[in-house]
Amino acid sequence: MNSEFDIIKKYFTFADERTDVLIAGGDDCASVSVPKNKQLLITTDTLISDVHFPEETSPEDIAYKAIMVNLSDLAAMGATPAWLMLAISLPQVDEAWLQKFSASLSEILKRFNISLIGGDTTKGHLSITVQAMGLCDENKIMRRDQAKTGDKVYVTGNLGDAALGLHALLNKFDDEQLQPCITKLNRPEARVKFAEELVSYSDCAIDVSDGLVADLGHITKASHCGVKVFLSQVPVSSAARYYFEKHHASVIDWSMLLTRGDDYELCFTVSENNELAVNDLACQHDLKISCIGEITDGSELKFFNEQGGLENFSNTGFKHF
Ligand code: ADP
Ligand code: MG
Repeated sequence: MNSEFDIIKKYFTFADERTDVLIAGGDDCASVSVPKNKQLLITTDTLISDVHFPEETSPEDIAYKAIMVNLSDLAAMGATPAWLMLAISLPQVDEAWLQKFSASLSEILKRFNISLIGGDTTKGHLSITVQAMGLCDENKIMRRDQAKTGDKVYVTGNLGDAALGLHALLNKFDDEQLQPCITKLNRPEARVKFAEELVSYSDCAIDVSDGLVADLGHITKASHCGVKVFLSQVPVSSAARYYFEKHHASVIDWSMLLTRGDDYELCFTVSENNELAVNDLACQHDLKISCIGEITDGSELKFFNEQGGLENFSNTGFKHF
């Protein structure tokens, strides 16, 4: 194992069944063909050791998460994942680490029928940049600027578990009952399959990556609207409820759950006449969805607590700078 070409050949080369990859692995660029009636959607996200994951995170979890966060972006606009580029910077050639990283990568590529078509391999602080590309039927993509007054606001899954998982890890809580939160942090589940069909019933979606408060803010800003959210309807897992019972006198810390991010759930809007269909769709996918509020006129984000009062959030999401 003496050059990056050996590493690429051994750990970043996978067979797949896609017939739309014309050139991959070896040439200066990869080349793919995009069907005429489809739109190509492209996204990229970087995961840096100690910024996006604790240093001791397993290589399997790092590979999994690096891809999932990108698939979550594709899901947010309703795209079916197709191709991936991987730019990785490694502090050293650790074959045991690479083997595990590669196995996890391979598993997830297979699961979603994605082809790894190229990348870049360099030496440096551990950092993984994935670029994911996906396809969506023309004119069906969901955009954050398409929310309309009166639309209902929905989210998938539960919110805030990943934030609690990180909190548990950083504070070294040794508590089996918080394990689901740690799993949610390390193994987020992009809502790819649900989103592929959601495009028929929703025009506007975003993935919750920076916390619901910040991400709803992106929707209201782009769509020139306001939103009201009822915290009593916001989905909270039983693990999170357990945490607040044990450590917080049973008072839910909404700021913790809604401003820290890493949820990778979808937040989307639905007009009243599509609500039944969307709830049926979620049932078919065995996915929990919750209606948490409604799009309003104006430009304000209003969060109503259980007592009917307004909850204010001073910190509205993770910011790098
Ligand atoms: P170049 O010098 O043209 O930038 P590289 O030496 O960086 O090419 O990469 C050689 C080939 O290997 C390219 O086709 C590139 O896409 C592919 N490649 C490099 N790193 C990775 C990786 N981590 N995963 C998949 N393919 C990779
Ligand atoms: Mg290169």
